[in-house]
Amino acid sequence: MSRQEVDELIRRVGVTKAGIERKVAAILFTYRCSIACRHCLFGCAASRPDVVMDAERCVRYLGQLFDLGRVVHIAGGEAMLYWNTLKEVLVSAEQCGVMPHFVETNCSFAGDDALVCERFTFLKDHGLMGILLSCDPYHQEFVPPENFLRARRIGREVFGPENVWEPSASDDEVREFPRIVNDEQRLAEYVCARPPTFTGTAAQKLAPLVEPKPLKEVVYETTADGTRRPVVCAKELNADSIWEVHIDPYDNIQTNCGLIFGKADRTPLADVMKQLPRVNFIVQMLAEEGPMALAELARAKHGFAIPTHARQKCELCYWTRRVLHKHYPEMVGPAEIYA
Ligand code: SF4
Ligand code: SF4
Repeated sequence: MSRQEVDELIRRVGVTKAGIERKVAAILFTYRCSIACRHCLFGCAASRPDVVMDAERCVRYLGQLFDLGRVVHIAGGEAMLYWNTLKEVLVSAEQCGVMPHFVETNCSFAGDDALVCERFTFLKDHGLMGILLSCDPYHQEFVPPENFLRARRIGREVFGPENVWEPSASDDEVREFPRIVNDEQRLAEYVCARPPTFTGTAAQKLAPLVEPKPLKEVVYETTADGTRRPVVCAKELNADSIWEVHIDPYDNIQTNCGLIFGKADRTPLADVMKQLPRVNFIVQMLAEEGPMALAELARAKHGFAIPTHARQKCELCYWTRRVLHKHYPEMVGPAEIYA
């Protein structure tokens, strides 16, 4: 789908529905975040390096992201931490005709109506079509529920309800989130009922709340004819079906899996995506042989102690990647994710 067709789809159905239909592609503006959610796939936190993508590269890479025919946004970390740089980026993007469709925020900035109105109006006036507002017990451990509710109310007025991507929880449910995350028993029940992907901070802080299974139950599956085969990541590492692809402030073409597909300053994103999964041997192995094969390689070559139990294939993959990151940082990275 062309850029114009994606824009038209958004005008018809809104940012949220269009994003779900077309899937998303993002500038990962920074790994620094105002908060440190327990479910974060990337291990973002305030302590991460003060590195943010500059306007010149951001504009260039937005053009590459639009070539994928996806809904395009700026994510983090928390992009609003760098509001002045973000404004500069968006002014340049507007001038160059590559304005992203939406920006993602955890709402920590949204402490008063005037500031939220000022920022959202600026975004809308420069051509942004919508906003994504994060909200769940993990975010609300740090961000007051009223910040999210304020941002949602004002966001709906400025962008229209169909262009505010948010979890559709009621006001009362949002106000309950801090009580869930601050009660270990309720948090454990919440995590077991809706397990996040156990990579990054989630592998460290949330996986222990869920009973692990013997590894063979997690990394092998049985087909209809009774054959046992390894679980592979062909769908997650396929150019059409991958949910999200990012270009980060180090020029990495990067996934939600902490894998690097290539460098956007060397090979255009669309060309790298066409080569998937044969962009490097680690991505190819995960797609064709699965995370168990990668764990066995890490054991044979780098002394990885394969756990006997895990909750998900992604958890095994994360602990394997933590070992491999030191040996293959150009394929498994960046360092922030494995800090
Ligand atoms: S999940 Fe989002 S808001 Fe939470 S720490 Fe990670 S980047 Fe920040
Ligand atoms: S096992 Fe690894 S590569 Fe596969 S989906 Fe999970 S994190 Fe991604």
